[in-house]
Amino acid sequence: MAIQLTLRQKKIIEIVKEKGPITSEQIAAELSLTRATLRPDLAILTMVGILEAKPRVGYYLTKKPLPFLIGDELQKLKVKDVKSRPVVVRDDVTIYDAIVTMMLEDVGTLIIVDESGFLAGVVSRKDLLKITLGQADIHKVPVGVVMTRFPNVISVQPEDTVYEAARKMVQYQIDGLPVVVPRTISEGEPGGPSEGLEVVGRITKTNITNLFVELGAGKF
Ligand code: ADP
Repeated sequence: MAIQLTLRQKKIIEIVKEKGPITSEQIAAELSLTRATLRPDLAILTMVGILEAKPRVGYYLTKKPLPFLIGDELQKLKVKDVKSRPVVVRDDVTIYDAIVTMMLEDVGTLIIVDESGFLAGVVSRKDLLKITLGQADIHKVPVGVVMTRFPNVISVQPEDTVYEAARKMVQYQIDGLPVVVPRTISEGEPGGPSEGLEVVGRITKTNITNLFVELGAGKF
């Protein structure tokens, strides 16, 4: 059930959250509106189960979890609020070293960067498993050979919503996304001139699951 609350309805929820139980006269006074103007909003908020009212006591927030508010929260939360630190390796490290890093860092996907530190690719557990099944010498072959290569890497930026990140993971059937910001290295700086995506984090299905549990527990 997706319910889009109006700004005024959100303000009413905030007031009731802070001051409830509170009468409709008091809510109206807080918003400098008449009781009659508020009546439809209070009716809607009560009907969908966000508010409850008791005669002579006033309005208070329902104790029940509010699934439709979770949708609102997900639209508000940004990738930067939930992202983890990135686990990156250079594209010239060997498959063997990539596997060791994956184990030591306890991650399912490594982000691969080039000599400027820019996003070059990603490599997943199965990418590494696949190559170990063949005849390749994993002590010699660089991880760059098996990675999914930029620009085919799906990424997000810190200001994107968590919803957008989750939607991309579902759409592309992947476990995680690098969090990046476009960056230019100008002439004169080391490695310049060049431009690319600087890796500032990662967001994974684990972040989303943790968030889901926290939302369920009433956090945020
Ligand atoms: P696994 O293959 O270990 O189950 P994924 O489902 O995340 O892990 O990866 C599936 C494939 O998608 C792999 O080949 C991997 O390189 C690629 N992949 C993983 N993350 C991304 C991403 N952010 N953008 C593009 N491709 C990705």
